[in-house]
Amino acid sequence: MNTRLLIAAAGLGERLGGRRPKALVPLMGRPLLLRTLDRFREAGLTEGVVLVPPGWGDGFSTILAGRGLRLVEGGTRRQDSVGHGLAALDDDAEVVVIHDAARPFVSVEAIRASIEAAVAFGAATVAIPSIDTILEGDAEGFLQSTPERSRLWACQTPQTFRVEVIREAHRRATAEGFEGTDDASLVRRMGGRVKLVMGSRHNLKITLPEDLRLAEAMVREELA
Ligand code: C5P
Repeated sequence: MNTRLLIAAAGLGERLGGRRPKALVPLMGRPLLLRTLDRFREAGLTEGVVLVPPGWGDGFSTILAGRGLRLVEGGTRRQDSVGHGLAALDDDAEVVVIHDAARPFVSVEAIRASIEAAVAFGAATVAIPSIDTILEGDAEGFLQSTPERSRLWACQTPQTFRVEVIREAHRRATAEGFEGTDDASLVRRMGGRVKLVMGSRHNLKITLPEDLRLAEAMVREELA
């Protein structure tokens, strides 16, 4: 099936210092975005790639020159950014792999497994079983409930979908004023099945300055 890549890269990186868009922050001299794209190139996803940078992302065209990526301006929320990207996919795209630019250590195996699962079930997300006990708090800061850990997964990307499934999920979320922090949840919200695909703790999302230091150590030690 025609499979296309959509990279959400419109985060401002405020929690990382905010001097430049997070995707352009260098990790051992190479911008996060380029490291992320390397993994997808290894997985064979180079055709019709849609990249969603922030509006002020001038630096993007410079580092991406000659790669033939389609740049579409992002929105205020991640969901808006992905929505803009979905509208810009090739007409013949059948499957879309949606990934955060901020996860440069995604494995080729996880990318391939998510595509296989999306072809089979319509929607898939990479995730890992929670090793922490997760607590739900109430509005006053007290423990509300403790969901059974064995059924909890920490969400990662890629999240991969048949294109018509994720477009419909976004359309409904927008119409109903719902905001999610990922895309698979929008599919589940409309009753769709989403296959959980095993990820890895190495597939970390770089958000805080200490994540960057951990990521540097991982590159140095060749852990990811
Ligand atoms: O902010 P957070 O780290 O959760 O963002 C996850 C991914 O979504 C990042 O790759 C970021 O660039 C992207 N994002 C986006 N548009 C936004 C906010 C975040 O594309 N408005």
